[in-house]
Amino acid sequence: MPEFSQLLYETPVPRVARIVMNRPERRNAQGRTMTYELDAAIRHACHDDGVNVIILAGAGPHFSAGHDLDLSDNSMPDVQQSIGLWGQYTGPGWEGHYARERETYFDLTERWRNAPKPTIAEVQGACVAGGLMLAWACDLIVASDDARFRDTTIDMAIPGAEFFHHPIELGARKAKEFLFGGDWLTAQEAANCGMINRIVPRAELPAETIKLAERIAAKDRFALKLAKEAINAAQDAAGRRQALSTAFHLHQIGHLHNLLARDFMIAYESLDPAVRRMIEEHVRRQREGRIEGGPGDSVGK
Ligand code: ZN
Repeated sequence: MPEFSQLLYETPVPRVARIVMNRPERRNAQGRTMTYELDAAIRHACHDDGVNVIILAGAGPHFSAGHDLDLSDNSMPDVQQSIGLWGQYTGPGWEGHYARERETYFDLTERWRNAPKPTIAEVQGACVAGGLMLAWACDLIVASDDARFRDTTIDMAIPGAEFFHHPIELGARKAKEFLFGGDWLTAQEAANCGMINRIVPRAELPAETIKLAERIAAKDRFALKLAKEAINAAQDAAGRRQALSTAFHLHQIGHLHNLLARDFMIAYESLDPAVRRMIEEHVRRQREGRIEGGPGDSVGK
């Protein structure tokens, strides 16, 4: 069993693994540490013969605030922990940034979406921007009645996060409204679009999710894996993967435009003042040459 500093790995009932993002004080923000711990936990569950279903949950009042803008834990991947072969994370210009974005937000999220065993996201409270990627990568979503969803990336002058499932989850017209407006989507609205499988009272969320997982986990493991593969293949045959790749590269154009127009890879004027101050300090130190990297190094929205 790998060791985790930002996750809990539980087996609440036989044949079910429950992975809990455990940074409630940071609203489970996903930095580099959590990203690679998530991958290690999912990998462990997939290779565990005693696990048939995987739950992804978040500790505390909210499921996920999205990608961590605390730059101290958002640096380039360690080659030793990297799952891909792209490499050159410290390359000049956009080379390193592209490699990082591709590995940590695109390839890893896609890898989790393709984890052979059924996965269930257990979502409460807020699920914002990069947090949507985690929920969407799961096969099923069980939400509490107070769950709410929002994509604020347009405010950061970026066209959605890196794993662009918006039209697949919401349909084109609702996805445009969701993205253009940046307004909250309630659990009920998300369910009406087909994005959520079921809504349960907040107090019953973990128990109801585990109950659903337990029911699925009692089925034949190999048949579950084949069924998941078949449905994922249907989505991919309809062009999902190609559309996602196009959106990812448009996202890269957004970053590059911001670098040219704003000297930083996202527009951060709209962010929480504390986060904004942290980024401004980071940029100032980079310009003074006190830390390595070009403007915007390490920020991965
Ligand atoms: Zn990005």
